[in-house]
Amino acid sequence: MPGVRDDQVSSDGFSGLIEENRTLREKNEELETLLNQDPYTGLPIRRLFDRHFDDVFLQAQESGTSLSVAMLRLDSSYAKIKNARDRSRVLLFKTILRIQSVIGETLFQSDRLDEFLIVLPSVSGISEVVAIGERILNVVQQPHEQPAEDISFGCYIGFSVYPANGSSREDLISNAEIALEEAERWRLGSILYTDQMGQRYRDRYEIDRRLSAAIDADFAEFEVYFQPFVDTEHRIRGAEALIRWRNATLGAVSPARFIPIAEETGLIRQIGQWVLFSACRQVAEWHNRGFDDLFVSVNLSPSQFKQHDLIDRVKGVLSAVKLDGRFLKLELTERTVMENPESAIRKMRELRDLGIRLSIDDFGTGYSSFSYLGKFPIDTLKIDKSFIDDVHTNLDNQEIVRAIISLARNIRIETLAEGVENRGQRDFLYAEGCRFIQGYFYSKPVDSESFERLISGGGFLPGADA
Ligand code: C2E
Ligand code: CA
Ligand code: CA
Repeated sequence: MPGVRDDQVSSDGFSGLIEENRTLREKNEELETLLNQDPYTGLPIRRLFDRHFDDVFLQAQESGTSLSVAMLRLDSSYAKIKNARDRSRVLLFKTILRIQSVIGETLFQSDRLDEFLIVLPSVSGISEVVAIGERILNVVQQPHEQPAEDISFGCYIGFSVYPANGSSREDLISNAEIALEEAERWRLGSILYTDQMGQRYRDRYEIDRRLSAAIDADFAEFEVYFQPFVDTEHRIRGAEALIRWRNATLGAVSPARFIPIAEETGLIRQIGQWVLFSACRQVAEWHNRGFDDLFVSVNLSPSQFKQHDLIDRVKGVLSAVKLDGRFLKLELTERTVMENPESAIRKMRELRDLGIRLSIDDFGTGYSSFSYLGKFPIDTLKIDKSFIDDVHTNLDNQEIVRAIISLARNIRIETLAEGVENRGQRDFLYAEGCRFIQGYFYSKPVDSESFERLISGGGFLPGADA
């Protein structure tokens, strides 16, 4: 059996072993440090944050003090530092130093390169947290030195506080993240989590999730309703297509609630395309059944309008259902067309070349700069419901509505009043020369079968004048 004889282990050999062992240990430590730091920024990574948090948290629990978790993200101007990898890296380092000058060394890298985590131990109260947030925002926003003096960016911070906003690491981090996302959404610098904020966020998240599922399930939960546009002879000339969503868990969800969320997440593009297709198909079907002068008006959301292939999409729908563009109107808001007026005008012309007519929806609530109106190829102004609500009694709104109608007439644009609920409003509007009326006074939005009943027999709405 091979063995090691005593005299073979020289003192030198032994110290060699120790030496080797030490280098190995150092190498391990080096490796560990490397594994625990972000390779780009050198900051300790998320896993170390967790460890650090647990230590601080234990102390807070033992001593009955509070602590705060902050999540911080650089704003979108940072991401825009173009073609300058080195520059953006240097600026990132400098920004990290600036943040550390406020909170000390214990800054951790989060899951993204432009996102960081902080624990503030034993904070005395909300005002201290707010003050720290202000100081961080302030240092991050400072101008940079040459040669980067032309670059500036800021950051957003979300805070959660123990014990008010959670009693576990996961809760405190995820609530700080919710606060961060609210801060980003409203461009609010730094904010503290609140229960109400969390509720809103979780609601939005749930709607988004179920909306995606409903889209994946072939839109079976959606339906298009139609609300008549009625002319001065009380005859239905067209209808606005309005989406309805009934979800097994959430019940009926109002479009006022889910459309803005879909707009934010981008799902609106699929939803809008489905509404456009369904509404056009329905109207083509009505034409086939003899109601052949009916048109449909479809809402086009800002992000739908922005799609580069919008014209092809609309063309595709019209040809798929064999509907002439004359029978389609699209409703755009002032915000949609004003974002980039030049390109909007180009797109609007292309749509009009297909025979499609265009309305400005919710008119009066946006920019309301009358001067731009003439520049856009528009057919109809839809006067917003807020002016119509008390137009039969409120002299100021009467003046506004009169002005809108006469302005539109001067530039040969027709007007439609939205949200007309009573005879007083209707009488005033027709007397002033408004051409179309839409509102509960004539009919609520109804499903396609009910709408077909309304248009049967010439489409004159009964009882309106009785
Ligand atoms: P909107 O485009 O201004 O549509 C008019 C809204 O006013 C509809 O609400 C309609 O039901 C309601 N309304 C009509 N007449 C009256 C009335 O006399 N009194 C009252 N109180 N309300 C009346 P709805 O259907 O809940 O839709 C809300 C908003 O959701 C719409 O406002 C529109 O911005 C959006 N929306 C609905 N469907 C679609 C869609 O298919 N695509 C897009 N992008 N947005 C849609
Ligand atoms: Ca509309
Ligand atoms: Ca409207």
